[in-house]
Amino acid sequence: MKPPLVIGHEMAGIVEKIGAGVDGFVPGDHVALNPVVACSECTACLRGRYNICEKATIIGFRLPGAAQTKLVVKQKQLHHVPPTIPLHHAALAEPLSVGVHAVSRASDLEEVLIIGGGTIGLCVLAAAKAAGAARVTVVEPVPSKRALALHLGATAALSPDEPVAERFFSTCFDIVGRPATLGLAEGSCMSGGVIVVVGTAFGFSEVNTPRLQRYELTLLGSSIFVDDDMRQAIGILASGLFDAEAFITGQRSLDEAFQAYADASDPANVKTMIRMGNN
Ligand SMILES: [Zn+2]
Repeated sequence: MKPPLVIGHEMAGIVEKIGAGVDGFVPGDHVALNPVVACSECTACLRGRYNICEKATIIGFRLPGAAQTKLVVKQKQLHHVPPTIPLHHAALAEPLSVGVHAVSRASDLEEVLIIGGGTIGLCVLAAAKAAGAARVTVVEPVPSKRALALHLGATAALSPDEPVAERFFSTCFDIVGRPATLGLAEGSCMSGGVIVVVGTAFGFSEVNTPRLQRYELTLLGSSIFVDDDMRQAIGILASGLFDAEAFITGQRSLDEAFQAYADASDPANVKTMIRMGNN
């Protein structure tokens, strides 16, 4: 991202005005934003896989984002949110959609491992529980995040120096993307299990192809989400089964935005929300 771009891609708000031809929304509607602007023409888009559009641009990355008091977007980027969901909870619809999509890539949720318990790892946990996952183990170095994982329904929350059962888990999510975490996912997957790569923040990792072949492991990627994932995420938020308030470790006004970013750099914090207006 290059300044002076306005950042912000996890957002909820209230419709203030509608343009000509808008038929799905009226002023006063509560909405959440799908920030993925797909081309609708490439091979991925033609198959309905807008999340992997070859020409996608993201609101808040290459297009002006939501960290401002007013944002103009096309109606196809918006989802209705029930007004019973507080707006600071509704803003979690975006990261929760990433979790819903990652879980949709897997089919056997009997014994789930999630490596990394930050925002996205915890959203994968919430989505897995909502999808009926029987048991979920989270590996995370920060104690407060391990406690939150247990609060959100994890069966176990391990620190990275604790042993993880080998060839035990039906689906392993690597949220971190280090060589060590992909290696842990591969070694923890049961015969015939699935590894879903959700995070790649640390670049390239080697794959143990003999192990992949010997145990018929499936290695999958998961990227952003599609509209149906966001509808499901809003459903999870509306269900009340997901403790969104516990997820939000801080709220700041726009005047305190600098402090909000300082808060967010503390590893113990999960999600800091900034209120852009008075809502
Ligand atoms: Zn496309």
